[in-house]
Amino acid sequence: AGLTTYFHPGINLKKIHAYSIKLYERLEEETGQPVGFHQPGSIRIASTPTRVDEFKYQMTRAGWHPTEQYLITPEKVQELFPLLNMDKVLAGLYNPGDGHIDPYSLTMALAAGARKYGAQLNYPVQVTKLNSRSDGTWEVETPLGTIQAKRIVNTAGFWARDIGKMIGLQHPLIPVHHQYVVTSTIPEVKALKTELPVIRDLEGSYYLRQERDGLLFGPYESEEKMKLQESWVTNGVPPGFGKELFESDLDRIMEHIEAAMEMVPVLRKADIVNTIAGPITYSSDILPMVGPHQGVRNYWVAIGFGYGIIHAGGMGKYLSDWILEGEPPFDLIEVDPNRYGKWTTTEYTAAKARESYGFNNIVGYPKEERFAGRPTERTSGLYDLLKSKCSMGFHAGWEQPHWFYKPGDETGYKPSFRRTNWFDPVGREYKQVMEKVGVIDLSPFGKFKVKGPDSVKLLDHLFANVVPKVGSTNISHMLTPRGKVYAELTVSQLYPGEFMLVTGSGSELHDLRWIEEQVTRGGYKVEIENVTDEMGVLSVAGPYARQVLQKLTNEDLSDSSFKFLQCRHLKLSNIAVTAIRISYTGK
Ligand SMILES: Cc1cc2nc3c(=O)[nH]c(=O)nc-3n(C[C@H](O)[C@H](O)[C@H](O)COP(=O)(O)OP(=O)(O)OC[C@H]3O[C@@H](n4cnc5c(N)ncnc54)[C@H](O)[C@@H]3O)c2cc1C
Repeated sequence: AGLTTYFHPGINLKKIHAYSIKLYERLEEETGQPVGFHQPGSIRIASTPTRVDEFKYQMTRAGWHPTEQYLITPEKVQELFPLLNMDKVLAGLYNPGDGHIDPYSLTMALAAGARKYGAQLNYPVQVTKLNSRSDGTWEVETPLGTIQAKRIVNTAGFWARDIGKMIGLQHPLIPVHHQYVVTSTIPEVKALKTELPVIRDLEGSYYLRQERDGLLFGPYESEEKMKLQESWVTNGVPPGFGKELFESDLDRIMEHIEAAMEMVPVLRKADIVNTIAGPITYSSDILPMVGPHQGVRNYWVAIGFGYGIIHAGGMGKYLSDWILEGEPPFDLIEVDPNRYGKWTTTEYTAAKARESYGFNNIVGYPKEERFAGRPTERTSGLYDLLKSKCSMGFHAGWEQPHWFYKPGDETGYKPSFRRTNWFDPVGREYKQVMEKVGVIDLSPFGKFKVKGPDSVKLLDHLFANVVPKVGSTNISHMLTPRGKVYAELTVSQLYPGEFMLVTGSGSELHDLRWIEEQVTRGGYKVEIENVTDEMGVLSVAGPYARQVLQKLTNEDLSDSSFKFLQCRHLKLSNIAVTAIRISYTGK
């Protein structure tokens, strides 16, 4: 529907949205190509008290950002959108400058701009094969001949999986069907002096905007009702599919049509003159995958765009800055393609895409948990033992105990903007660890073993900190060429030249890609083994931690023989473990 908005619930992506809008505002002047950009503003409608809480929460996340966002009263909502039935409206979240743009003209304008500044565009030309060369460059085969490329960027929309398959990758993406409908002229709309702002009725789960003298609205059906295009995942996109649309299905969106008619009563008088049903590519968390891909040299992606129109300008800039400067201009780890891995199977992606589409307008709580597709194959050895005894959180495919139940606790996941059901239990566990001892399952950590003749040299190059001595551990930062922190890892030298690197669950392949790139560039002779799935991690923390562990071994664990930031091999209850004396809890 061409919608553009400054709003994003995340902190970092607001920057991407803002860059796109500012670029689109000057695109026509810069390229001579009209883009049909309308900026009447947009209002997200709250019709429940929880939604008002969510808006207040969102206001706290927007204050530092230069773009405008206001929490407005029902009176102000009515003033901005006079055709609204105000019965249920409690508040609005208003973003001036939001609106909609013509996607086709925008694409043409971006292409014209690229040409103007020296890019060579061949269109349409189909990439038929990708060959990687031993020096890391690529041969891109097309019917017009072969192109030599230093690096390639897969930007093939819902064909992205097909391109990935050419080099043996299974990008975890799936197309979903999305529909919007356009009405005939509505006299009350025609009579308006200024264009109506876009509204998003979150409880009704649809967006609605003015389209000429009528209205356009697009719903997000529930996860049960929405439709996936699964055959494209198994068989690829049918040859020749281009600008075609899917068959529309108004029955599937009937409840949203009714909700829209209640909220905007003039809709009742209007005829539907057009229904558009098209494919949108969904990743499991509905964020795109942007950046270099782990495991394949010089293969980059900008794929999985569920909201590609608002993301295009900002993501293009982010990607080109990264390519030109050799490091990302700012942290956007939430769109790192390497947040997924072997565990993101097709079944998982499909279940998650259903959930993400259906949850498009649900209330977004802090510390949100979503449950579709869980558990994946990534469960720690303790999962079966603990699953009924605690509330599990999801980290990079892993199930990790977040807090444990005690009699009298309200179990399960009950989020809130006020007090959650885990507030008191987490306080209790905090006290337990601060005053006594606790065991924390940290198996989701990313773990790599590094060894080989150049391992010390490599680590010295990778990290700002010194390389830890044999039997020692430190916290080290991988820095970008400009000195920004790219990642923070725990580094232990277990044997001379043999290291264990531990990183956060969300950065496993993100960090591994960076390390592998440095290895290739520097020609270091090392072996790197990703042992994330093979090794469990338990953290024993608190003043009694030593006493608990000492009961399980005859080896001396006293402070003088096992000092802070030392590492060694131990047998605990006759089980061989790598033990690191470190704290992730501040104790
Ligand atoms: C009904 C509907 C409403 C939508 N509304 C909005 C909205 O309001 N706001 C919003 O932000 N987004 C919206 N979207 C989503 C948005 O349209 C997409 O996210 C966006 O178009 C994706 O852009 P893309 O460049 O990633 O992919 P595409 O636009 O699909 O481009 C992929 C390109 O790759 C090319 N290609 C494919 N295979 C090959 C090959 N082998 N060789 C060479 N080239 C190839 C294709 O020809 C195509 O040009 C909507 C989508 C639909 C269907």
